[in-house]
Amino acid sequence: MRIWIKDPLAILAPDAARGLVIEGTRIAELVKAGSLPAAPVDAEFDASRHVVLPGLVNAHHHFYQTLTRAHPQAINKELFPWLVALYPIWARLKPRHLHLAVRLALTELMLSGCTTAADHHYLFPPGLENAVDIEVEEARALGLRMTVTRGSMNRSQKDGGLPPDSVVQDEDTILADSERVLKLFHDPKPGAQIRIALAPCSPFSINKRLMSESARLADVHDCQLHTHLCETEDEERFCLEIYGVRPVDLLEETGWMSKRTWLAHGIHFNSEEIGRLGRAGVGVGHCAASNMVLASGICPTCELEAAGSPVGLGVDGSASNDSSNMMEAVRHALMIGRLRYGASSITHLDVLRWATEGSARCLGRDDIGRLAPGMEADLALFTLDEPRFSGAHDPLAALVLCGAHRADRVMVAGRWRVVDGMPVDFDLGDLIARHREASLDFA
Ligand SMILES: [Zn+2]
Repeated sequence: MRIWIKDPLAILAPDAARGLVIEGTRIAELVKAGSLPAAPVDAEFDASRHVVLPGLVNAHHHFYQTLTRAHPQAINKELFPWLVALYPIWARLKPRHLHLAVRLALTELMLSGCTTAADHHYLFPPGLENAVDIEVEEARALGLRMTVTRGSMNRSQKDGGLPPDSVVQDEDTILADSERVLKLFHDPKPGAQIRIALAPCSPFSINKRLMSESARLADVHDCQLHTHLCETEDEERFCLEIYGVRPVDLLEETGWMSKRTWLAHGIHFNSEEIGRLGRAGVGVGHCAASNMVLASGICPTCELEAAGSPVGLGVDGSASNDSSNMMEAVRHALMIGRLRYGASSITHLDVLRWATEGSARCLGRDDIGRLAPGMEADLALFTLDEPRFSGAHDPLAALVLCGAHRADRVMVAGRWRVVDGMPVDFDLGDLIARHREASLDFA
């Protein structure tokens, strides 16, 4: 089956004024101005109202936090007191909550144009040992691509860490389960729907052996590594006190300085550290909204990219954003970036590149994130019909500057998953009602 996505209003691809042709799960060709597809097509989709982007890729999230958005015990705090307030509330998480949280978060992301999402799940209270299995089941049901990061915490309050004892696991349990889920679910091949990455949570909730053993397992199973790093100055002080080194040195000492690694946040680096990270190819998932809400600081995106690090975008968990909208994340990255670098240094094309190709590189993928022949057919199509776009001239700039936040159509691996701004095969109102009811357990 060959489908021609025909004559888009605008498209984020060079020489594709007449659109592109999808064949099966992949992009077969781009169609230049004044040209026709090279071979006959079976169907045409009139995209003359649509701005066509590669499906957006979310580089960092905590889906379970959709149940604790705008929580009165956590709002208006910085990271450490925010975490200390929320950990005991999150400890109530049960499998039925996580199912609904994952389904809601993936749906929310998908409606904003996201086709691939990384989720960092690190909470494993008793009864929730199979959290990764739940996330994979929900992603398969919705048809989105995911990198499920098997998060972990083994330094609780009794060992000087921040999380309460009830939500952490010992490192042998963590490493055994990491191997289990890698063997069960990780697909390193191009076109994969599900990948697993290993993700010790943050320097203040792990020990060094968990970091180095996770890196060893990632080599054996060819998977990515992920963690929160250099999010706050509190974290830097914690590392110096507990490990006697700065956070980036902790990565170096535990075998994490490689292309396998991408970090969430990456704010408080010095210039020498940025050079080391860039040379090693360590990626950074920039989470602008969360960094602004928690007043953590501004990621040095331009310096990191210049040094050689892939830069992607993440919405971060829904208790510190507090939405999961990838197009909003694109707009936030533009705005906070301009405050730091000036109006001409970060363009709408830069932030769209971070949200697509950049995030894909963080996740270790070169089969998604761009519209080109041979790439996976993951698309996000936006219309400019709402009042906020009326009078806009450059359609691609308008998406970012006027604040697009809901896709009209979303395709994953050649299949439409969103049509007319709604999921294709389930009732959105019913999902919201059930998710909202589940959230009452976390009041
Ligand atoms: Zn996070």
